[in-house]
Amino acid sequence: MKTDINRETIRTLRTHYIDGAFVESHGREVMDIVKPANGQVIARVTLADEEDTRHAIAAAKSAFASFGRSAKEDRAKILRRLHEAASARLDDLTTAMVEEYGGVVQFAGPIVRSGVNAFLAAEKALQELPLTRSWGNTTVTLEPVGVAGLITAWNANTLFICLKLASAVAAGCTVVIKPSELSSLQTRVLVEALHEANLPKGLLNVITGLGTVVGAELVRNRDVAKISFTGSVAVGEKIMRDGAETMKRVTLELGGKSPTILLDDAVLDQAIPSALVMAFLNSGQACAAGTRLLVPKNRFDAVKRAIRDAMRAFTVGDPADPKTAVGPMMSQKQYERIQSYIRKGIDEGAEILVGGEGHPEGFEAGYFVKPTVFVNVNNDMTVAQEEIFGPVLCVITYESEDEAIRIANDSKYGLHAAVLGTDLERARRVASQIRAGRVVINGMTDDPQAPWGGFKYSGIGREYGRYGIEAFLETRAILVS
Ligand code: NAD
Repeated sequence: MKTDINRETIRTLRTHYIDGAFVESHGREVMDIVKPANGQVIARVTLADEEDTRHAIAAAKSAFASFGRSAKEDRAKILRRLHEAASARLDDLTTAMVEEYGGVVQFAGPIVRSGVNAFLAAEKALQELPLTRSWGNTTVTLEPVGVAGLITAWNANTLFICLKLASAVAAGCTVVIKPSELSSLQTRVLVEALHEANLPKGLLNVITGLGTVVGAELVRNRDVAKISFTGSVAVGEKIMRDGAETMKRVTLELGGKSPTILLDDAVLDQAIPSALVMAFLNSGQACAAGTRLLVPKNRFDAVKRAIRDAMRAFTVGDPADPKTAVGPMMSQKQYERIQSYIRKGIDEGAEILVGGEGHPEGFEAGYFVKPTVFVNVNNDMTVAQEEIFGPVLCVITYESEDEAIRIANDSKYGLHAAVLGTDLERARRVASQIRAGRVVINGMTDDPQAPWGGFKYSGIGREYGRYGIEAFLETRAILVS
């Protein structure tokens, strides 16, 4: 039965995907899914418990016995089938992201597409990755690590699931996926799509439940060799601590407080809209959001004028409207978190240039906030150091290039960064001094073969391309005497 994500009635989801079939939940706890744009309950989902999780792990373990020994070409075929199956429901996946998460359609469309394309990107990387090397009497092979637990966040559900699944399959791992319980409808549409890929039974298992129940079981279970996690620093730390008991391999994709350095030769008409796109990416609920804009002190007044002008394009509204740039926050909790940070910024002496506290006028029903730009921010302030995970930008001035680099690196995070300027050589020189996993020059861009991941508290390990596949591999040497 296909989930019709356009239906008005409240939907109920009572099954998990285990061993190639949708099976009734053993867990009995029921959770409401609320539409962020209006606060209405749109679905009820029955959450998995530890027993459902162990059932899924057993299916993945059994499937690993054969899939773990599959040839490169078999995995490549499966990746192509996954791509084809997910592509067939692109529109439904986008609609589900808009409805359940409140993602604006202008972002949801491309991000869902890049998730679906992750299968082809992984296939390409796999074809280019030598899995065997030999010299003399020695042969070294890259082997799948085993059953992988994939635990994901709610802000780009399809992308995270597809990306991790694609890398794991390319490596020869079988998986148990625990998406955010807040993404249950989106997950359901995706799993229905992937079911059509006709995978070997037990290769893909998807369990919707709480992190403290399903996630914790995956982390502690001896039959799970690897955890690939996307989420908060606090949970990432717990996974490392608890996973140590069973020597888990971990990849952690955590938070960010990304700097955008505007160099003094930047053309403001182009650079400021670009900086704002990065700041308000995915309505500000993006790990990579460029939430600290560093500007030369001698251009501060011109920058303020340019920001005020460009902010007119960042309209708040119905996420399904293609003109909307900033949609509602994901939940009431997220709404309150952002309000508390805006208040904190004001209390600490930052000045509001645009936005501020409360709902934007006319959007009192859902979890809408005002896209907010703070100026006169000092990098020591809470709003400049902590990840807000909402549409709040801090503008910080600097006096020299060296000072800009120092401020950019003065953060516990190091996930993403941007440099904006006319002289490319200079922009590259600045980029090469930033301690972050990815630095983009002159605007947001992507390359599915380039690594993604963080320095410092932004995480451990990398995803995308061959780097993502390598995270699911162990190295074995066979030596003949
Ligand atoms: P979260 O850490 O609260 O939850 C992430 C996932 O972990 C969810 O599926 C949750 O159920 C699960 N979880 C919770 N407790 C757990 C436990 N004890 N054991 C195992 N799993 C558990 O994060 P969130 O609120 O869903 O997402 C927001 C965070 O994710 C932000 O910090 C953001 O920066 C980060 N993020 C990072 C990236 C990246 O690529 N680096 C991408 C997106 C989001």
